[in-house]
Amino acid sequence: GNRTFSMIKPDAVKDGHSGSILKMIEGAGFRIVAIKLTYLSAERAGEFYAVHTGKPFYDSLKSIMSESPIIALILEKENAVEDFRKLIGATNPANADAGTIRKLFAKSLERNAVHGSDSDENAQIEGSFFFSALEKF
Ligand code: ATP
Repeated sequence: GNRTFSMIKPDAVKDGHSGSILKMIEGAGFRIVAIKLTYLSAERAGEFYAVHTGKPFYDSLKSIMSESPIIALILEKENAVEDFRKLIGATNPANADAGTIRKLFAKSLERNAVHGSDSDENAQIEGSFFFSALEKF
């Protein structure tokens, strides 16, 4: 697959890291296909992370993801899903490699700066959660 979906999470946007993160994304060879500054209500955040329903961190995740605006992105590159997850680093920034986006900008496991889809199928589903077909040139 050559596309993935990403989100710059509320803390990273609020703290003024959007430009630096987008620069790293483009610098790594990803083309921005679609981009939108928007906002998730707690309910919409819960839908986005429905796979985590019932887990101990689910309510906290919904709350953190709806604190302030996010930037939604569809990104294009050969091997996009796998290469993007390498660029962002491990979910827990304590385990993220040096030079990854999460190592540089994550504050904690729950406030880990960015999201990246974990499969081609989820990239498609998550992209369509935020963008209409007309917005995905
Ligand atoms: P993302 O989906 O945001 O790219 P991921 O695929 O690396 O992250 P998931 O397992 O899908 O990780 O978890 C989604 C998000 O929920 C994580 O990015 C993290 O912010 C939060 N999270 C995951 N596991 C925990 C946990 N054990 N405690 C607290 N928060 C967690």
